[in-house]
Amino acid sequence: MSVATKEELVITEEGKCAVCGGKNVQYGDSEVAEQSVYYEIDCDDCGACGREWYNLEYQDTRMVPGEKPAGARSIEGDRE
Ligand SMILES: [Zn+2]
Repeated sequence: MSVATKEELVITEEGKCAVCGGKNVQYGDSEVAEQSVYYEIDCDDCGACGREWYNLEYQDTRMVPGEKPAGARSIEGDRE
């Protein structure tokens, strides 16, 4: 990880540029970190770029009794 040489501007408003306050942000790739997901964002108004962070929260666990994962089946679709 590179150390930020410039001061980071932080806001807590989704879809908004922290530098100029503009709402014309473009979303790029998303990455999953430990308990968070971030999207790379670029501001169309001032050209600033940054990351928009989201927390990952545990919701629930859902399982189907007796159901096997698709990958665990025998290879029968590969007949040709
Ligand atoms: Zn901006």
